[in-house]
Amino acid sequence: MRLYEDEAKRVFEREGLAVPRPVGVFESAADVGKAVGPGAAVMLKALVLIGGRGKAGGVRRAAGGAEAAALASDMLGRRIRGYPVERLLVEEAVATTGGAAYVGVTMNPADFNVAVIVSPAGGVDIEQAARETPEKILRVELAANEAALPDAEASRLAGFLAAGLPGGAAQAGALKTVVSRVYAAFQKYDCKVAEINPLLITGSGPVAADAKIVLDDNGLFRQGGLFRFLGLTTARHDISEPTRNEIRARAAGFKYVDLLAEDHVKDPSKLYVGLVPGGAGYGIFSIDEVGGIGDRFFGGRVVPVNFMDSGGGPTVAMVGEMFDLLFDYEPVDLVITSRFGGISSCDVFIRGLVGCLRERRRAGQRVVPVVGRMVGTDLPSAREFLERAKRETPVELEDMHITVGNRKIMAEIIREGIRFAFDRKGWA
Ligand code: GDP
Ligand code: MN
Repeated sequence: MRLYEDEAKRVFEREGLAVPRPVGVFESAADVGKAVGPGAAVMLKALVLIGGRGKAGGVRRAAGGAEAAALASDMLGRRIRGYPVERLLVEEAVATTGGAAYVGVTMNPADFNVAVIVSPAGGVDIEQAARETPEKILRVELAANEAALPDAEASRLAGFLAAGLPGGAAQAGALKTVVSRVYAAFQKYDCKVAEINPLLITGSGPVAADAKIVLDDNGLFRQGGLFRFLGLTTARHDISEPTRNEIRARAAGFKYVDLLAEDHVKDPSKLYVGLVPGGAGYGIFSIDEVGGIGDRFFGGRVVPVNFMDSGGGPTVAMVGEMFDLLFDYEPVDLVITSRFGGISSCDVFIRGLVGCLRERRRAGQRVVPVVGRMVGTDLPSAREFLERAKRETPVELEDMHITVGNRKIMAEIIREGIRFAFDRKGWA
């Protein structure tokens, strides 16, 4: 369960960390105008359960009540990366004199170690810093899971920050306190993530200009005290951050989940497989089957990239959008599809796929091989349409191999498709 920024800041403040002085949380621009003094420099921050608000216009600075009200009326009712903005946190703007740091504590899901990550290159581009200048990030993993950060580790982490921040040298002690307190909060509240980005270095010490806390749902039963402190009566449904693909699928009206992180760096020796299966069950089966066949026959070099549920009678346009999404998704090398026509029609499916391929080929857009099978409702007309389409536009459809009927099992089609895509790429 993710906390809103104002809640996370109250928690950090409770644990002894400095946060900007809040003006309040507002739902109307008029109220913002009344609450902010004429000369006050404030930050307006969209209270949405998603990061990256800064780049999406969800964090704005105003000098005085009139400007704050104008910005508030622009922000309220907008969407930030798909999330409607209904409330704004308004707080004093913090002036930084000594740089911006990143301090985060999270859990490594592979071994349950606690990972403490710090960087003197904090701010909106921390992911970019991680990719381009990894030497600016220090990550310490702790296997022992102590309630308090061991002193030696705290010193090391704080020393790294102090050395990298322009105004860090004078604040090494304060930085050590911050890192230790974020760690302690992470443990005390059973967090999955406790993060400050940016931690701004000011004349009066480090200030948490942003705060992110994600509670581990499995630990909520121990957090009654926290719920009372925040005035929460029930757990909020955990809303994860949707990826660009997931937002696109949601807008188009079908279920889609990315299996790769958005900043995943592609391994060039592997084949990345996008999936357009029938229903949800077939979606899960396809992920397992593609991964399993990859392990057994291709040395583990096959990566399924998505879950999708295209069941429930999609329209031709929606089927087209399912394929468009995967063709537009840069990692995908091959699309495997299976239409087991029950409620939904093979005829609609094949028209959607063929239409999509034709349009993309004519527009010069990226297309990757598509292999699969269709069985079930409306198969005769679907077969007829497919055969005609292949005669009429053989070039546009040259890399589409759809088996009609169930003369081959899906496992065989998947294996052949993967073999074909590896060969076509010229890989061994
Ligand atoms: P996010 O983009 O959702 O992580 O939102 P943030 O709260 O981190 O705000 C985005 C960016 O706005 C930060 O990285 C800072 O650069 C800037 N920012 C936010 N609050 C303040 C503040 O009080 N003072 C200053 N100087 N910059 C701020
Ligand atoms: Mn931030």
